[in-house]
Amino acid sequence: MEAGLTHTFDSVIIRFGGELWLKRPWTRRLYERRLVRNIKNVLKRYEVPYSEIVRRHGRLFLRTESAVEAVRRLARIFGVSSVSPSLETSSKLENIVDKSVFLAERALKEGDRFAVRCRRVGDQSYSSADVCRVVGQRILDEFGEKLGLKVDLDRPNVKLGVEVRNDEAFVYLDVVDGVGGMPLGTQPRVVGLLSGGIDSAVACWLVMKRGCPVVPVYFDNMPFTDETTTERALNVAEVLFDWAVGFPRKVYVVQHGENLNKIIEDSSRRFTCLLCKRMMYRIAERLAEMTRAEGIVTGEAIGEQASQTITNLRVLNNAVKKYPIHRPLLGFDKAETETIARKIGTYKISSRKAKGCTAVPSKPATKAKLEKVIKAEEKLNIKEMVESAIKSLKVVKM
Ligand code: ATP
Ligand code: MG
Repeated sequence: MEAGLTHTFDSVIIRFGGELWLKRPWTRRLYERRLVRNIKNVLKRYEVPYSEIVRRHGRLFLRTESAVEAVRRLARIFGVSSVSPSLETSSKLENIVDKSVFLAERALKEGDRFAVRCRRVGDQSYSSADVCRVVGQRILDEFGEKLGLKVDLDRPNVKLGVEVRNDEAFVYLDVVDGVGGMPLGTQPRVVGLLSGGIDSAVACWLVMKRGCPVVPVYFDNMPFTDETTTERALNVAEVLFDWAVGFPRKVYVVQHGENLNKIIEDSSRRFTCLLCKRMMYRIAERLAEMTRAEGIVTGEAIGEQASQTITNLRVLNNAVKKYPIHRPLLGFDKAETETIARKIGTYKISSRKAKGCTAVPSKPATKAKLEKVIKAEEKLNIKEMVESAIKSLKVVKM
């Protein structure tokens, strides 16, 4: 965006829900309402002033004198597919032409190849093609010669857009990509196992993107880890919360070191990580019940760790019955996960040096037999371990 244009705009076009058109009208209305609520929360949190948000035929229009700042914030709201700072006018053709010329004059430079595009809803006396033709011609008449402008419909370097909605019209230049997905809160809550590492943060974010608020739970494995590990997880949670403005900012912290200690004492070291994780799942299941969540999300990907071979994932799944384990990264390569982590702002924190778990054995089982794992667990008082972990639960508000 040209710096000189920052204060030119008086509105923002918000496009959303490419997939929503597949849904029934009432579902769509629900999604739209939730999106508007989420948008208002973001604008309030970042103190972006605005006078109104209006819904018009599959678009939202925000009236604001801080359009450029608003666009920066809106592009990071789940459900928004793209946003444009715009200038509002009436749908009278002469007004559209005037505003377009006004914008074009500020945006066009010598030698530019430009195109005008128009989308129209409602009964007007002109067609979309008319708008493009008349606006294009007026721009050429006004400063085409002076700047050596050309109309180039195939490969323009400047695009001027016009959106006509019944009596209103909006003129814009830039189309800023939004994050996409579905508005947060349009799906039920899920419990997210958040370790502070790269993977689980991305896994949680991916389900948030599809509409699920995440209840993050961190298992504190001290003394096998230390404060640096906990702090890292809390910091990652903070970044995730910034994607969920208006939703609770609470991390559930479970004291898990004692359980891990028992696991090491009472069973084959080859199974330590599997037993530890099965215990985490069970505790997460209890937490799902307590928070009325409907699933559990982890950052596991096939073969990423010894405990994440397909065989071992089966062993892990077997520990819980009431809730599904969702693994959004199941088929991701590490590099793909890292790309998302960078985009969403968790990568730096997750890559920070923190104490790794010292309970991890040197020779973990990669193809554990389920029966053997279950047998190994017989020595443990599972019920009591889950109960004492739940009792130790701390809720950290951020
Ligand atoms: P991550 O990068 O998310 O730490 P990882 O590839 O290092 O994952 P593991 O340490 O085996 O793999 O953990 C697998 C998954 O189990 C994590 O993605 C996370 O969802 C969950 N998990 C592991 N440790 C913890 C913990 N201390 N607290 C909460 N969840 C955890
Ligand atoms: Mg990890």
